[in-house]
Amino acid sequence: MTITKERILQNDPLKIADRCDQCGAQAFVRVVFGMDRDLLFCGHHFNRHEPILMTQYPHVRVTDERHRINHKPSLSANAD
Ligand SMILES: [Zn+2]
Repeated sequence: MTITKERILQNDPLKIADRCDQCGAQAFVRVVFGMDRDLLFCGHHFNRHEPILMTQYPHVRVTDERHRINHKPSLSANAD
């Protein structure tokens, strides 16, 4: 059985080991340009580049897991 790169990219959730291609922070967004080209972004850098990316590459496939950023509330969130 052959697993294509595309299949791996489609089904593979972002992991802690996936790093932003711009700054090396944990990646929360994957932008796939085709069969074997993708870019990883942290939330900060995807926010910065999203308007240009979506304008110039409207057909890219985006895995957006930014909702996982700060998923656990900090302990101080409940402090008075
Ligand atoms: Zn970054």
